[in-house]
Amino acid sequence: MAQIIDGKKISAQVRAEIKSGVELLKRERGITPGLSVVLVGEDPASQVYVRNKTQACEAVGMGNFQHNLPEQTTEPELRELILSLNRDPAIHGILVQLPLPRHLKGFDVMQVLDPIKDVDGMHPLNLGNLASGREGFRSCTPFGVMRLLQEIGCELEGKSAVVLGRSVIVGKPMGLMLLEKNATVTYCHSRTRELDQVVRGADLVVAAVGIPRFVKGDWIKPGAVVIDVGINRLPDGKLAGDVDFEAAAQKASWITPVPGGVGPMTIAMLLYNTLEAAKKAHV
Ligand code: NDP
Repeated sequence: MAQIIDGKKISAQVRAEIKSGVELLKRERGITPGLSVVLVGEDPASQVYVRNKTQACEAVGMGNFQHNLPEQTTEPELRELILSLNRDPAIHGILVQLPLPRHLKGFDVMQVLDPIKDVDGMHPLNLGNLASGREGFRSCTPFGVMRLLQEIGCELEGKSAVVLGRSVIVGKPMGLMLLEKNATVTYCHSRTRELDQVVRGADLVVAAVGIPRFVKGDWIKPGAVVIDVGINRLPDGKLAGDVDFEAAAQKASWITPVPGGVGPMTIAMLLYNTLEAAKKAHV
């Protein structure tokens, strides 16, 4: 039976470290790290995520500058807001909550962000830095997965890592971060053939497809580490991950639960990146 990777507990440790870091920065340099979360539209899941982020931000003593824009917001209006946040010295981190309404193109919007405030690593410069192995902000969800792997002492060098999903926010940066740690990375996506066979060879499986219980227990190699990024709302209102947890836990050595695994880490790493951005700020 797998050991559970307790994302709640690990994220609480990370947030406690950040809280101390925020206090130190205030005391020694008079800087209060500030995060601005921009939400466009009324997607209920996004509203919950944004609320959690702003609450977490306040709990560690950071400034919180939330912007809720209507669904019909135009691209020039959104760009204008981001440009004003770029100029605001009280704001060190800017996060544009995804997904954006259909009429807004995420890639174009992210280009307007000042890369030094792009705390979710979505600006092309930060994505390019990741791809070329240089320093820069890392997308919070895969960055949080890396922290979980570090906490359980998961050695990645030479291991076979399979990432299910290739989105710009989770799958792609996830694979690049694992590659940076010398894992042998395979991406699977909707066109992958015999996906179950690919997963069967994996020492590490990271699932980010957005389909409840997509990964079956008998796909998991005995002793593999299983990270479930998925957050799916079932018809009965409960949350389910992308992995059939009960069955996979019979085979894996370590596994993340949903909720309480990767989700809390995403927020913790957002705060981490915001603190790092504030440390680099000029007073
Ligand atoms: P996207 O919808 O952007 O990407 C899903 C990926 O899964 C795509 O690459 C897609 O392939 C692939 N996929 C879809 N169907 C299949 C299939 N049948 N077989 C194989 N691959 C498939 O989702 P995100 O990356 O944004 O999110 C993934 C999941 O993670 C969601 O459940 C989301 O809620 C959750 N999430 C959780 C976060 C957290 O903090 N824990 C943060 C962000 C997301 P293709 O590219 O070919 O279409």
